[in-house]
Amino acid sequence: MKQNYLFTPIDYLKGVGPNRADLLKSQLKIFTYEDLLNFFPFRYIDRTKYHKISDLENTSSYVQIIGKFIDFRHSDNLKKKRLIGMFTDNNGEIEIIWFRGIKWIEKSIKINQEYVIYGKLNWFNNKFSIIHPEIELLEKHKISIKNNLLPIYSSTESLLSKGINNKLFTDLIYNIFNKSNNSFKENLNRVINEKHNFISKYEALYNIHFPQNQKLLSKAQFRLKYEEFFFIQLQFLFKNLINKNKFKGFKFSKVGFFFNSFYKNNLAFSLTNAQKSVIKEIRKDFSSNAQMNRLLQGDVGSGKTIVALLSCLIAIDNSFQSSIIAPTEILAQQHFNSISNSLIGINLKVKILTGSTTKKEREILFKELREGQINILIGTHAILEDKVIFKNLGLAIIDEQHRFGVAQRSKLWKKNITPPHILVMTATPIPRTLAMSVYGDLDISIIDELPPGRIPVKTVHRTDKKRLQVFKFLKDEIKKGRQIYIVYPLIEESKKMDYKDLMDGYESIEREFSKDEYQISILHGRMKTNDKNYEMNRFKNGKTQIMVSTTVIEVGVNIPNASVMVIESAERFGLSQLHQLRGRVGRGSENSYCILMSKDRISNDAKTRIKTMTSTNDGFKIAEVDMNLRGPGNILGTQQSGLLNFKIADLIKDKTILNLAREDAKNIIENDPQLKHVNNKEIKEEYLRINKNSILWKHIS
Ligand code: ADP
Ligand code: MG
Repeated sequence: MKQNYLFTPIDYLKGVGPNRADLLKSQLKIFTYEDLLNFFPFRYIDRTKYHKISDLENTSSYVQIIGKFIDFRHSDNLKKKRLIGMFTDNNGEIEIIWFRGIKWIEKSIKINQEYVIYGKLNWFNNKFSIIHPEIELLEKHKISIKNNLLPIYSSTESLLSKGINNKLFTDLIYNIFNKSNNSFKENLNRVINEKHNFISKYEALYNIHFPQNQKLLSKAQFRLKYEEFFFIQLQFLFKNLINKNKFKGFKFSKVGFFFNSFYKNNLAFSLTNAQKSVIKEIRKDFSSNAQMNRLLQGDVGSGKTIVALLSCLIAIDNSFQSSIIAPTEILAQQHFNSISNSLIGINLKVKILTGSTTKKEREILFKELREGQINILIGTHAILEDKVIFKNLGLAIIDEQHRFGVAQRSKLWKKNITPPHILVMTATPIPRTLAMSVYGDLDISIIDELPPGRIPVKTVHRTDKKRLQVFKFLKDEIKKGRQIYIVYPLIEESKKMDYKDLMDGYESIEREFSKDEYQISILHGRMKTNDKNYEMNRFKNGKTQIMVSTTVIEVGVNIPNASVMVIESAERFGLSQLHQLRGRVGRGSENSYCILMSKDRISNDAKTRIKTMTSTNDGFKIAEVDMNLRGPGNILGTQQSGLLNFKIADLIKDKTILNLAREDAKNIIENDPQLKHVNNKEIKEEYLRINKNSILWKHIS
């Protein structure tokens, strides 16, 4: 009975009423008492601190002052009627302003009585003021302080205007606790509780809303963050387990002729140790009976493509077809060219399928694919379409997977009755623990080493004032036989404007680099495929020295002789994009440069991005800064899925807690994969409750 108390609909809570109930449900997704208890404050204010009016600063935000009202006056010189009270603490005076409830204020607030006011400080017309503060008689305040740390709940204008403010939240939550008889259920187990010295579930919830002191607040936060991580980790680990058990995969038992002869005759370099060990991991997956689902992380230029190709060759050695899917046509074309080239002398059929493959070519291709004549199909999203039918797809590789969604990955599964092995590759590296949590259903391989002989790209920041010097530098590099990229931002929403930027830029480059001396290519998304290929090839073959382009070249493009990357309006690019673009150079044996151009004045975030770029080449470090700037959800594309929308935990700041939770969750699943043990009863109940809408629960229920 008692456990059900918390599931009572919010409508029944004292102080809520029908209108507020509707708002709480529609705007904050609070449907039950429990939901409200899980609506955590986002910060706390120390209410034992009082400000002196004379000490107030522009930068103070919320302030609490003890003092008296000495005067009230009306003002309606502006359109809006206002009541203004002069409040003093004997050190200074401050205006307190009301727009609403004026009558009530006049009736109930007395002059020359001691009050405590609390509210947001405004700085307007060279004067401090507070609008609609919370007001309490000093005497009452002294008794009523339930806790020194006042919780602050996030709210919206429209909620506030309906009286759904901090005080209401505090009162409502207080009402819940008041009647709950401490009957909160534990949702972890004794071992875990003791190991981490957790306070009880009840204490944790109570102290998150009414912290008795800083120490208890920290303990409450620790436990609740841990819980959030723990249950999501359980979910991932279950998913992993189910995948392993349920999806049998093709067994590629041998490494044969194609792999071996390529390795012996065609491979132009020796593999790095990191590449070798990744290939070992993949071979191990292939030779088990389960379907491979592997994520390969490796910084730009670390040599993921060759790993992909070697994996394809193993599939072919076992009489299966394989496929490589790239996010852009340019990249697909490049893979097609380089893979076809590197396979010279080996009798395999490689074909390309993209949006611009003609109908006639398609017909032939589809037939060859169904009949199994094509060994490797390279292409774009087009490969995912239902009409593309393989004879026996054994391995599917997705390049630059951060550009694809989860849904697209799952489409591949359906290409066969037995799903193909899947390898996804990404150059947006993220810290390993984070990757394991985000892509919990994938095994992870990392290439953490660049091919030998690479000279780090030198990165500098230049403002527009230095443009002439930059041009001079570019000319010098061209004289040395190098080639240059100049990239302009192209951001979806403002395509027209960006397009104009690009064209203006192109013209100014043409003016600066005269036609009789320099050849210039241009590349952007609006061009026809054939024109794109033509320009790309001219640049690739050294016919042009400068490539003016939008970010269509961002991913994967590999032209070793291009050694300077100029990024225009660099302040408008995100960090991972900048890093990707920079990755286009430094692929040869020459010194290479990345020049970040920007206006003089740029935002603080932009400064941080540019500074990060000029100070490190390490993709992992860059990803970490990026995540701090933008939040992990944005980077991993999981924002919409809600997967990582934690209420209280923070993937970056609470990494240690994440690791603890992951360890514990792993232990539990290893020892009791069905959560049958009596010690795990509470965990199981909570897990089933959280995941009742997911199909995964069937596994253990
Ligand atoms: P990315 O991981 O960014 O996809 P690529 O696969 O395009 O990188 O490789 C970048 C360049 O490095 C290519 O020119 C490739 O041929 C070369 N490369 C890859 N592996 C090695 C290696 N072990 N030794 C030397 N060069 C390599
Ligand atoms: Mg690549």
